[in-house]
Parts: sequence; structure tokens; C-alpha cells
Amino acid sequence: MAYDSSRPLGFATRAIHHGYNPADNANALTPPLHLTSTFAFPDAQTGGALFAGEAEGHIYSRISNPTVALLESRIAELEGAEAGLCTASGMGAISATMWTLLKPGDEVITDKTLYGCTFSYMRDGLARFGVKITHVDLSDPANLEAAISDTTRIVYFETPANPNMRLVDIRAVSDIAHAAGALVVVDNTYASPMLTRPITLGADFVLHSATKYLGGHGDLVAGAVCGPAEAIHEIRMVGVKDMTGSVMAPFNAMLVMRGLKTLQLRMARHCESGMKVAEWLEAQPGVSAVYYPGLASHPQHALANRQMDGFGGMIAFELESGYDAGIAMMNRLVLIRRAVSLGDAETLIQHPASMTHSTYTEEERLEHGISNGLVRLSVGLEDVADLIEDLGQALGVNAR
Ligand SMILES: *Cc1c(COP(=O)(O)O)cnc(C)c1O
Repeated sequence: MAYDSSRPLGFATRAIHHGYNPADNANALTPPLHLTSTFAFPDAQTGGALFAGEAEGHIYSRISNPTVALLESRIAELEGAEAGLCTASGMGAISATMWTLLKPGDEVITDKTLYGCTFSYMRDGLARFGVKITHVDLSDPANLEAAISDTTRIVYFETPANPNMRLVDIRAVSDIAHAAGALVVVDNTYASPMLTRPITLGADFVLHSATKYLGGHGDLVAGAVCGPAEAIHEIRMVGVKDMTGSVMAPFNAMLVMRGLKTLQLRMARHCESGMKVAEWLEAQPGVSAVYYPGLASHPQHALANRQMDGFGGMIAFELESGYDAGIAMMNRLVLIRRAVSLGDAETLIQHPASMTHSTYTEEERLEHGISNGLVRLSVGLEDVADLIEDLGQALGVNAR
């Protein structure tokens, strides 16, 4: 920024400006896109010094790239973290982080509800290499207190959790984890840094599928992890450079930066429409349950008020008539798209049991609070009256 301000800049301002000064780049308003795989060293000695970590600069785009680096600093800024690292996907961020922080014999305590691929990565990817995975219902921190031991290296969770919208008290869980010497890793995809900043509440690392709200336009797949600078450097040099190769392309960094410029505006609309759709769904006779942290009926509504700056655009609900009726209702929708992913301008609906969470066995799913009839809705940016009308005709009720 061109001026010193003793007053901290607001969220939207930082999402638009942080880390970039046009004067450094031929006065280009928009940061340049560095489409380059490698970087030419001015002389061989400088190349050697860069490899030895004795000079600062870029070497090769599997390690770092200026366009990606700007996005990394912006996401870290919004999360209140020391440093950030962007990856090819959310799963890339999760796997690069976990492979770097864990060794055989360590235990991960994780919540019962996880995104389907995160669940199978832990069950198949981590457990196969000697990491113990223990699933605990973290919506009650007392369960963590009972399960944690000195082999616990990481406590991992999502809040709100995908897909059933359960919350975890980040502050309470972080206090228990830290007392036992464990690290706290939070997947903040559902809330985005606009609604929750886990690091400011005590977490050590925050992860994102930037495919979702950060990108916000359904046109890319991307991920990010933020945390202490030294540990993020380690994840970059081990987890990304050597283990997964899960590198973000500079062009995708450019698109995510474009998305970030409107994150605050978009989230405000997602929150407003999410609340209206959740309230409307709750009033429909055929709808047996609506899970949305903004509703007074959400069992953790008080925690949501304390921990979140808004309730977001994700809703889960169940129909009285069960699975078949849910599938038939989805098929009657005209405007709302049947698709996985979330956080886009378009409203998306999907059926976790047969789609995003089909990596679980049925037994695991029920044990983990993901019922067969659960339907997940990502409320987009359309006019909310049109969304309610589409839901109304699909449910066979008069929406207006
Ligand atoms: C989508 C998602 C992921 C995985 O991210 P990708 O970008 O699809 O790899 C991880 N966690 C949550 C909560 C998600 O919704």
C-alpha cells in the first residue's frame, strides 16, 4: 500500500490489494501472470546460493512462482497466518501437509464427519503407511480430552463439516490438543476466511479447497494451506516439491486472485440467501430436518454465533419420505444444478451418500452421521426468490 495507516485495513481491501503495488510492475493495475516453468540465474554462484537457501528468489515453478506467491501471501493475510502455500487442489493441500507433518506410529484424531476424499485419504493413504487414524465426535470437546494421548500428533477437523454442517469449537479443541502436544489442522473450506479464521482462534494450520469459495466461479481446481512460516516452508520443500508434486499453475493463481477480489461481496450474498432458503425449507411440511448454523434449531447455534461472522451458503436437509423421494426431488429441479462442488455462483445440489461421500461404506457413513436421505445444497448468487420457487415446485409445494 502506498500509505501508512495505523488503522488496520478491512477484509475486502486486503483481499483486493494485499502484497501488490502497480509501481513495481510497469503500473499494471492487475498483477502480472508469470507463465514460466523456470527462472534464469544471473550467474552460477547465485543459482547455488538459491539452492543452499542463502539467497532469496525463485528457482523452478514446482517450488515457487511470483504469481502464485502473491496469492499465497493474500490468503495467509486473510487467514491471519504467517505464511501460505498454494497447491493444485484441496486434496493436494491436505496430502502435502499431512505427509510432511506425520511419521509412522503417529496418531491423527479426526472428527467423525469429513469430506469423502479426505476420509478415504486417511483410511487408505495414511493408515497404509503406519499412521493411526482415530475418529472422534469433536462437536463435544470432552470426547477429545478422553481420546488424546502422547502419540497424537495431529487433531484434524472441518467446521462446518461437509456434509452435515456440524461445528467444532476451534478454541476449545485447540486448547486440549496443545496441552497434549498435538497440532491442530482445520479445513476451512466451508466458512472461508471471511466467516471464520481458525488460526486466530488457536489452530496451527488452516486448509482450503480453493476450488470452492476462494475461487468462487466453478472454473478451476485449487488448494491452499496456511500456518507458521517455517512449517509452511517444510510443507513446500517436502510435501509439495518432493512428495506430491501438487503445484498450483500460475494461471489458476491468477483466477483465484480474481475470485478473492469479490469474496466479501459474494459471501455476504451467500449468507443472506442461505438464511432465507434454510428458513423456507424448515417451514415446509415434507422436510424433516434442516441443518444450517444460522437456524436457532441448529444444536450448535450458540457456537456458530460465537465463532462465525456469518453462516454461509451451505445447507443440508432431509425429506420425511426418505431416499427415493430425495432423488426424485433433485431430478425435478430446473434452475438448481445437480452437481458436486460448492461455493459457486450457481446453486448446486447433490446427494452425499451416492456422490461426494460414496468413498465411505454405508456402515461408516451412518456411524459418521451422514444419512442416506441427506441432501446437500450450495446456495449460489442467483435471486433467492427464483431458487425458492424451483425448490418449491420440486417439493410439490407452492413457493410464493
Ligand atoms: C472439495 C473439498 C475438498 C477437496 O478439495 P479439491 O479442491 O476438490 O481437491 C476438501 N475439503 C472440503 C471440505 C471440500 O469441500
